[in-house]
Amino acid sequence: STELEDLDRRHLIHPLQAAAISDRLVIVRGKGCAVWDADGNELLDATGGGLWHSHVGHGRRELAEAAAKQIEQLEYFTSYQEFTNDKAIELAVRLSGLAPADLNKVFFTSGGSESVETAIKAARLYHARRGQPDRTWIISRLYGYHGANYGSGTLTGFEPMHLSVGPNLPHVEKVSPPYLYRAAELYGDQDPTDFLINELEQTIERLGPGNVAAMIGEPVMGGGGVLTPPADYWPRVREVLNKHGILLIADEVITAFGRTGAWFDSAQRDMDPDIITTAKGITSGYFSFGAVLLRDGIGDAITEDYGFFHGYTFSGHPVGAAVALANLDIMEREDLPANALSIGDWFRAGLAPLADVPTVGDVRVEGAAAAIEMVADRQTREPMAFPDVFGLTAQIRAKHGVITRPYAHNIILSPPLTMNEDEVRRASAAIVDVLTQTAA
Ligand code: PMP
Repeated sequence: STELEDLDRRHLIHPLQAAAISDRLVIVRGKGCAVWDADGNELLDATGGGLWHSHVGHGRRELAEAAAKQIEQLEYFTSYQEFTNDKAIELAVRLSGLAPADLNKVFFTSGGSESVETAIKAARLYHARRGQPDRTWIISRLYGYHGANYGSGTLTGFEPMHLSVGPNLPHVEKVSPPYLYRAAELYGDQDPTDFLINELEQTIERLGPGNVAAMIGEPVMGGGGVLTPPADYWPRVREVLNKHGILLIADEVITAFGRTGAWFDSAQRDMDPDIITTAKGITSGYFSFGAVLLRDGIGDAITEDYGFFHGYTFSGHPVGAAVALANLDIMEREDLPANALSIGDWFRAGLAPLADVPTVGDVRVEGAAAAIEMVADRQTREPMAFPDVFGLTAQIRAKHGVITRPYAHNIILSPPLTMNEDEVRRASAAIVDVLTQTAA
C-alpha cells in the first residue's frame, strides 16, 4: 500500500483536494457496509462509498451481472438524434412511475453536475420557447451544493468552489439557507420562514420578476450539513414562485431514491417541483449515471421547434440504465427507503450522548443522512476549523475502523441504506467515544 500511496501522491489530483489531507487510504474491495484497504484492514463505511451514493451497499453481484449482461448484448449505442435503446426506455418509464404525477419526461446524464446543467438550460429554454427570453436569472442558496462545472458550480453556495477560476455563470443570485441552528445569527428574532420568504420576494423584485427563470434547491441540504427546512418553507417558496411564473428545480442528487425515507424527498416536503435532478443513488454508484425529470409541459416545450440542442455522449447509456433498473429492483425488494428511516432512529439513539459534548453544536438526522456540527465554542457557535474536524474523522477511523466524512465544519454520515442496527450502533459508539475523549 505504501507504494500505491506514493504513486497516488505523484500522479493523481483528487476532487476537492483539501490542503489538510496528505495521507490517503487505498480502498480495494467492498461488501455490504464494509470496505477493505490495500493492507487488508476492514473498515465500516458510514459514508455510502464516501459521497452519499451507495444505497444498496458494496459488492452486489446482481448489479455486476446486470452490467455484464448488458455489455455483452449492447455496450453502447447513442440515444442521440434518430436512435434510442430499450434499457433507456424501460428506465424512463420506471422513473416516471416513481416520480410525482406529471413529471413524466426524462433526460439522462452521466452524473449530478450534468443533471443540474441540463435543468438550468431546460428552465431557460422553456421560458424562451414561450416568448419570455429575458427570464435568465437562476436563484440558488448559500450552503447549497449543486456540482462543480461552471453552471452547477456557480449555483453552489460554497465560496472555495469559486476561488480563482475566472468568471462564473452570469445571472445567478444567492439567497439565505434555512439553517435553524444559526437562526439567531441569520434571521435575528424573526420567524425563519418569514425572513427567508421576505428575502426571496425582495430578491425577485430586485432582479425583476420577468427576468427570473428558476430557483434551485435541495429539499434537504446535504453538503451544507443536512439542513431540513421548517415545514412551511417549501410550500411558501412555491407560492411565491407561482405568483411570478418562476420554475422550481428540486436538486435531489442526494435525496432521491430513499436516502431520507422517500423515493423523492421533494414529495414529502410539499415542494411540488417542476424539474427534479438525480444521480448518485440511481445506480448506487455502480455506474456514473444521472437523470433529470421534467414536467410534461416543460419537456414538450423544450423539444418543439428546433428541439433541445443539449446532450452528452453517454446520455441514456444502456449499461447505466440496466444497472439502475437492477438497483431499483433491490431497493424495492428490500424496502430500503423504510430502512433509511430506521437508520435515522438508530443514529438518533446512538448519538444521543453527544448532547453532553462541548465541541458538538448540533446533531441533525434525516433518515440515512446525518450531520454532526462541530464548534470551537458552544456559546458563540463559532465553527470548528476544517483541519480539526478532519483530525477527528481520522481518529474515528484509526481507533475504531469507522469511516465518516469531514465536510466544512460537519461530520457527515450517509451510510448505505442497507446498514443494520448493530452497524449503526458500532458507528455511533465510535463517534461518541472519539468526540467525548477529544473534548475532555
Ligand atoms: N447536486 C447535489 C445536491 C450534490 O450533492 C452533488 C454532489 N455531491 C451534485 C449535485 C453534483 O453531482 P456530481 O458530483 O455527480 O457531479
